[in-house]
Amino acid sequence: MFNERVLELIKKAEIDLKDIYLKIDEINEYNSMKVLSAFINNKVSTEHFNTTTGYGYNDLGREVIENIYKDIFKCDAALVRSQFISGTHALTVCLFALLRPGDTLLSITGKPYDTLDSVIGIRENDSSLKSFGVCYEQIDLIDNEFDYDKIKEVLTTKKIKVIEIQRSKGYSTRKSITIEKLALVIKFIKEIDKDVIIMIDNCYCEFVSKLEPTEVGADIVVGSLIKNLGGGLSPNGGYIVGKKDLVYLASERLTCPGEGDEVGPSLGLNKMFLQGLFFAPSVVSSSLKTAVLTSKVLEDLGFQVEPKYDEERADIVQNIIFNDEEKLIKYCEGIQSNSPVDSFVKPIPFDMPGYDDKVIMASGSFVSGSSIELSCDGPIRPPYIAYQQGSLTYEYGKLGIIKAIENIIEK
Ligand SMILES: *Cc1c(COP(=O)(O)O)cnc(C)c1O
Repeated sequence: MFNERVLELIKKAEIDLKDIYLKIDEINEYNSMKVLSAFINNKVSTEHFNTTTGYGYNDLGREVIENIYKDIFKCDAALVRSQFISGTHALTVCLFALLRPGDTLLSITGKPYDTLDSVIGIRENDSSLKSFGVCYEQIDLIDNEFDYDKIKEVLTTKKIKVIEIQRSKGYSTRKSITIEKLALVIKFIKEIDKDVIIMIDNCYCEFVSKLEPTEVGADIVVGSLIKNLGGGLSPNGGYIVGKKDLVYLASERLTCPGEGDEVGPSLGLNKMFLQGLFFAPSVVSSSLKTAVLTSKVLEDLGFQVEPKYDEERADIVQNIIFNDEEKLIKYCEGIQSNSPVDSFVKPIPFDMPGYDDKVIMASGSFVSGSSIELSCDGPIRPPYIAYQQGSLTYEYGKLGIIKAIENIIEK
């Protein structure tokens, strides 16, 4: 069924990767323990699988989920809701909750994720933060490091309300931000201005290491449930965790001033959110192994990859820099054709809301657009980079990339 040469390469790579896989297993065990302890501490029981409808007052399952998130992130408030449509929506709610007219938002990881352009007002939009009088400034990374001098200069010359740090690289070529680097920069910032709010875009980074941003000083942390923490089971949703007053502001922006986190029906999703979180450490570990294997085999085949297989990882995303439009498309077609859902569909580059370039997306997933399931996408612009992430199991991840690799080496 498969090309012998590709199978041989994979087999050889797996032997070389043994020690790296062991490290990933160790982090999986640690985070599994963290999740299990939170379930036990909060006395999860079948009554929490019940649901509310309508206003969603006193939703016991929703409350236990949010208490579990508080334990996992070691913080005092959590908002975990299906009413967040996506990661972008959760980030938008958070930004609009924290910023007021005249305030300044500062990004210190360069330009944020593409879909935030219209939210911030980098791309003109009548509903953007800019249209409400919120200013925006950014400091680019220099050789993948924070520009400490510039951060200090800005913080000592003007009042910044919120600093946004995006850990995962988005559709860029920079490296993702490890928890160690995050800890250092947060300490540095707080020494200059203890009042500035540090907000983290944590998409794709949850459970990749042992610590989460709230454990190293972040004030508020945001992510998507169709990525790492949904464990492949959450059908949608997002989370915001951190300091109580800040998370409450976010809840009042998500629902209404005066009602905040007291409302919001779980509509039957409590069990999915709980079970998804329960699987999440293991699903993240499968995704990481799939990414490491992809990196190793494609590098062995002469392709440019980022990160390299033996580099420390901060997220589950693997880049393959094709420098060739056709290879990018062929690779994505391969991923799609070995997916469990819509395997017979050919992905084609198309215009997507919130993105400037055409984007190709291979995602034969159970949950539409889920990128904790094996998926591969990329904007159609040089240097034609594939952004591959996810896999519910390592075995399915391997099967997906075998097909994708065959597609680009066979003509
Ligand atoms: C995925 C992602 C988002 C949000 O994306 P949605 O598709 O709206 O869920 C934001 N930031 C980063 C870094 C991401 O990877």
